[in-house]
Amino acid sequence: MTLLTEAVRDGAIGGRLWVYANYHCNLQCAYCLTESGPLVARRELSPERLQELAVEARAAGFTALGVTGGEPFLVPGLAAVLPALAKRMPTLVLSNGTLFTDRLIDQLRPLAGLDFAIQISLDSAEPDRNDEMRAPHNFAKVVAAVPRLQAAGIRVRIATTSEGLGQGELERLCNLHRSLGVPDHDHIVRPIVRRGRAAEQGLGADVVRRDLPAELTITADGAFWSPFGPTVRGGRLDTDLLTRTTSPLTVPAAAMVRVAQGTPRSEPAGLGVV
Ligand code: SF4
Repeated sequence: MTLLTEAVRDGAIGGRLWVYANYHCNLQCAYCLTESGPLVARRELSPERLQELAVEARAAGFTALGVTGGEPFLVPGLAAVLPALAKRMPTLVLSNGTLFTDRLIDQLRPLAGLDFAIQISLDSAEPDRNDEMRAPHNFAKVVAAVPRLQAAGIRVRIATTSEGLGQGELERLCNLHRSLGVPDHDHIVRPIVRRGRAAEQGLGADVVRRDLPAELTITADGAFWSPFGPTVRGGRLDTDLLTRTTSPLTVPAAAMVRVAQGTPRSEPAGLGVV
């Protein structure tokens, strides 16, 4: 048993390896912790690199894979490698849900029946309130995409990021996701983290490393403590870098275990990406 396997088994670090496929995005949300947007540097991990990481992750003892960004589906060739990732380990892709053309959904059909899900952001049952933080027509695009993905055999999860939902608003949102065929266990609600653009906008809750989920996260810039770690502020990378070395994966995995063993754990802060 490796040190990483033990750390995952003991709950010192999460079993999911996160990878940032890119940093660019067709949206420019007010609270984006990576300051993603259409004009930022792409900082991509190629689909081939994602496949390498999945192989290494499995061998190292990780139990699941998470692909995030930026908007991952802007990376050319991503859809084509997802079945290979999902056959190796349970795979979750985070998306803003706005790019699902018929052509892209056809490319995703081989994922039907695999341990795979797409987690789409939706922040309110009120279109105006959702779109205010994300983009015009975002609500309509997401609500249209969910059933089309499900019809192609893709499991869809909904993630809600908010400064605070009133009870009535939360109930309306839950009624909406249920009506879309997304069960309660596939809906997560998390606070805005005051990092990246959220910090610039004065939004969200301040956090320190021990508040963040201990989940190794690989980006084009290096390896980080958490998927909330590789944040950007004023165009500069600012937090929670473990090591610039990401290959072989055993190097950042060992760094992660060392840091986790020396980091006191906080009470759960409800910041989990999943
Ligand atoms: S929060 Fe997500 S969808 Fe919004 S700009 Fe950032 S990466 Fe894009």
